[in-house]
Amino acid sequence: MNTLDLVSWFVYLTASVLFVVGLHFMNSPKTARTGNRISAVGMIAAIVMAFVHLAVGGFVSSVAVVVLIAGIVLGAVAGVVSAVRVKMTDMPQLVSIFNTVGGGAAALVALNDILSSRGEPSMVVLITAGLGILIGSVTFSGSLIAAGKLQGVGFLRRLSLPQRGIWNVIVAVLTIASFVMLCVQPDRRVLWSILTAVLALVYGLVFVIPIGGADMPVVISVLNACTGTAVAMSGLAIGNVALIVAGALVGAAGVTLSLLMAKAMNRPLHTVLAGGFGTSESSSSQGAGPEGTMREGSADDLAVQLVYASKVIFVPGFGLAQAQAQRELADLGEILKSHGVEVLYAIHPVAGRMPGHMNVLLAEANVPYEELIDLDDINPQFPSADVALVVGANDVTNPAARKPGSAVSGMPILDVDKAQHVVVMKRGRGRGYAGIENELYFRDNTQMVFGDAKSSLQAVIAAVKDLLA
Ligand code: NDP
Repeated sequence: MNTLDLVSWFVYLTASVLFVVGLHFMNSPKTARTGNRISAVGMIAAIVMAFVHLAVGGFVSSVAVVVLIAGIVLGAVAGVVSAVRVKMTDMPQLVSIFNTVGGGAAALVALNDILSSRGEPSMVVLITAGLGILIGSVTFSGSLIAAGKLQGVGFLRRLSLPQRGIWNVIVAVLTIASFVMLCVQPDRRVLWSILTAVLALVYGLVFVIPIGGADMPVVISVLNACTGTAVAMSGLAIGNVALIVAGALVGAAGVTLSLLMAKAMNRPLHTVLAGGFGTSESSSSQGAGPEGTMREGSADDLAVQLVYASKVIFVPGFGLAQAQAQRELADLGEILKSHGVEVLYAIHPVAGRMPGHMNVLLAEANVPYEELIDLDDINPQFPSADVALVVGANDVTNPAARKPGSAVSGMPILDVDKAQHVVVMKRGRGRGYAGIENELYFRDNTQMVFGDAKSSLQAVIAAVKDLLA
């Protein structure tokens, strides 16, 4: 091993340690920013070292060095601009786009390793690079569709496949067969590696296209796990320790999250992978929905209920993030607490559009962590709550989930309907992510306060202050 190799191994190892330390700091919202910065330093060190290794070691031509610099500058500018400009509510789509780019890059690195190898690659390289191509390509196309669905691109959300489960199985079998052929016929590696990439791209499409409703969060975390695994496989193929560690961390975190999500959503992972429950087919047949009238209330009515309550449970959802009303909700909570009302926040694992969305949102508004209560612990508390105030949450409160036949069936929900009074803040009659009507809104103990969550909460705060003055 020469000096350059030795230095690069040392830098990659340091970068890997920084990734692990950074991840550890992300355990709590209070230290998450520091963790992010530590990991970013590790990533910058790894990128610079990879560049120096190639340029100084003379492994690439001077033209390639210019191309590398242009790529680094372009990638950095695109990353910084998109991260700075993105609205908090569009973050899940951005994460999906990052997964797309990560998976695609891992597949290309692995493909290049196989195609540019002089002589027959070893079995280890064939297997690791082959898996890098396969998993990276699935992630690329799957995450692209997921980003479009999260963005609410109409045709993607309506798109469905006839006999969808069958397509999943057929394309999966063909993709795996092609990968096996790559390993057993290395002399025809160009054919088999390209075919594996193309079939895996198709599998990514047939895997994600039919999925919607309550399966989407599980799929997103599975794709996240795939990005990491593809990167780790490519790292193994080209012998880069930083890629192996970074990929393994993302892969392991993604697998853990997928299992937790699947458990929280009451969806066995294999059924989601085989085509899902909450499909576009079921969503599109949801036109009818429950019937009846919605009772409309005002901010003043709600203020009276809150002031005379002894226990209030706030139920935040995607609409709270959309309205950026987390500070108003936290302020309302503080006012009620200082008046002696017990205030709790009910956190559904898939409320919002990304795992932990509500935790992050409420941490931003300095809501004490111990007031955020998970689904299993908060549900027994609804019957003793005087008011359940639902702010921009819809699917995660829909009692339709308790019955079969809808896009949310089987998903555990927050039992808000069991509270004495339910007040729902939303702008109008818009549906939730799963595209189905919510029976809760037609119940006798439910009142609707229509309007943007931020202005509705501001009006309620003013009314509560008047009552308490
Ligand atoms: P939903 O998307 O079900 O509902 C949000 C509600 O907020 C809408 O009905 C909308 O009604 C209302 N709303 C939107 N903007 C505002 C606003 N400015 N002010 C007030 N209300 C507003 O959200 P939930 O959090 O209940 O459920 C999350 C859904 O997202 C689940 O189906 C989940 O499966 C899915 N999902 C979750 C992911 C995750 O990882 N967390 C990832 C992918 C999908 P109106 O238009 O009438 O205002």
